[in-house]
Amino acid sequence: MSIKHRPLKSYVIVGGGTAGWVSAAVLSHVLQNTGVSITLVESPDVPTVGVGEATIPSFIDLLSFLNISQKDFIAKTNATFKLAIKFVDWFQQGQHYWHPFGKIGSKVDGKEFYQHWLKNHIHGGKFEYTDFSPAVAMAKENRFFIPDPKKPSNLSNSAHALHFDAGLAAKFLAEYAQAKGVKCIKAHVERVEQHENGNIKTLHFKDGQEVSGDFFIDCSGQRSLLLKKSLRVGFVDWQHYLPVNSAVVMQTEKMSILAPYTESTAHDNGWRWRIPLQNRTGNGFVFSQDFCSDQQAIDLLSSQVTEKAINEPRIIRFTTGKMKKFWHKNCLAVGLSSGFLEPLESTGIHLIMKGILNFVQMLPDENLADVTQNEYNRLMDAEYDSIRDFIVLHYCTSKRDDSPFWKMWQHIAIPESLQNKLALFKSQGRLMKNDLDLFASDSWYAVLEGMGVKPNSYDPTVDASNFELIQNILKESEVALKRNVQQLMSHEDYITRILAST
Ligand SMILES: Cc1cc2nc3c(=O)[nH]c(=O)nc-3n(C[C@H](O)[C@H](O)[C@H](O)COP(=O)(O)OP(=O)(O)OC[C@H]3O[C@@H](n4cnc5c(N)ncnc54)[C@H](O)[C@@H]3O)c2cc1C
Repeated sequence: MSIKHRPLKSYVIVGGGTAGWVSAAVLSHVLQNTGVSITLVESPDVPTVGVGEATIPSFIDLLSFLNISQKDFIAKTNATFKLAIKFVDWFQQGQHYWHPFGKIGSKVDGKEFYQHWLKNHIHGGKFEYTDFSPAVAMAKENRFFIPDPKKPSNLSNSAHALHFDAGLAAKFLAEYAQAKGVKCIKAHVERVEQHENGNIKTLHFKDGQEVSGDFFIDCSGQRSLLLKKSLRVGFVDWQHYLPVNSAVVMQTEKMSILAPYTESTAHDNGWRWRIPLQNRTGNGFVFSQDFCSDQQAIDLLSSQVTEKAINEPRIIRFTTGKMKKFWHKNCLAVGLSSGFLEPLESTGIHLIMKGILNFVQMLPDENLADVTQNEYNRLMDAEYDSIRDFIVLHYCTSKRDDSPFWKMWQHIAIPESLQNKLALFKSQGRLMKNDLDLFASDSWYAVLEGMGVKPNSYDPTVDASNFELIQNILKESEVALKRNVQQLMSHEDYITRILAST
């Protein structure tokens, strides 16, 4: 049997936002020395969305994958560290909880820490579940530390992500990709020419120039110029699950104490984020036009920010949902062109990374086999669906009923997959096993606990452990964690030290 090795020879990326440049960086890294050409086209007329500044720990994995030094990236993007999200007033007004990165507690007698904690809690134990998270212990004190894998300690299980300036991050990745041979064209795509079989052939620019390619990556933002507009792939609308559709964004001066976490505060008609950078703070208020006018949203955000504004508030509209297919014919959509989920858990950039990393793991050849596309679409569907459920969880479990917006959440549709997860959890505190779920059990437990969702009972197998011993372990580990955190540098000093190191 003769082997027919017919790799694709040219890729064209449309869009120079985070999605475009992350895609260009990953493709150019994976395809270096293969002779494959990669061209990125970005319109001088259409600005990037200009937000997307909080990440989750998978972003650190992306930097490692690309052999980018964390220090270099932090220096050039005004980045800060992120250990958690602090959710304020979500469950009830006046209450807050943490969703930290990394692990919470450790298994005891081979049983999940959560189940031991739950038994202790049911018996009147005073500790919060996240009291055993190293990330929360550091975040509460505004301290930071990256544990050395060679020196295990009770902080070893923490994990971190970054907050960064989206514009500077795109610039950093653009320089990276161009150094690896990506050609950048500043031009506005006006017309898309297709082959007879429907595959995309050539992009025609406003200035009369054009570019052809074997494969096209649509990073054109919410326009979804190639996948939606040209190839007419449909959209799965999720607004009945997540009806917020707008955000107002505004930058303010740097926070006086640089917090190592994102803050998400629920308000009467939506929620507000605060993202600390080295030189400024990113703020936004997410809302639904059915409950709040643009002016009310601007007034709310302006009245809540604690630092001086450094730019004018700007409104962004969005539609929650995903494309019916992410890969169709010779076109892949990455970023906002593939769908949108509100930024409550900072998952937009993760979806971009996953979109392009899954693609390079199943890079097509000239055959563009349907089976490969179907498998890719299945994996990305699972990513989107599990993140959607996790976001809906924050709203549908809220006890707030102090405004029409919050009353709405008591009657809103809940995806069946989430209903099943909640039912299983409420029974004995168990979670469904799903290898494709982005958020690990500890994340689900942290949010469920923070939102006051209590199981009826715990796993009976933890009764095999000596309860008195378990209670002592809990007491001692909480004290030890607090004590160790007191020895650490402040978040700001840690950044200064990293940037000064050689
Ligand atoms: C309010 C809000 C807050 C968010 N916060 C977060 C967050 O905290 N964390 C997170 O991970 N994600 C967040 N996201 C998501 C994140 O912003 C996006 O995933 C990310 O910025 C990627 O955008 P993009 O590159 O797909 O699109 P864009 O930034 O819109 O870029 C589109 C590109 O396409 C180009 N283009 C468009 N039309 C043409 C044309 N005709 N010809 C040539 N080029 C064209 C444009 O010039 C531009 O370069 C947020 C999103 C929103 C809306």
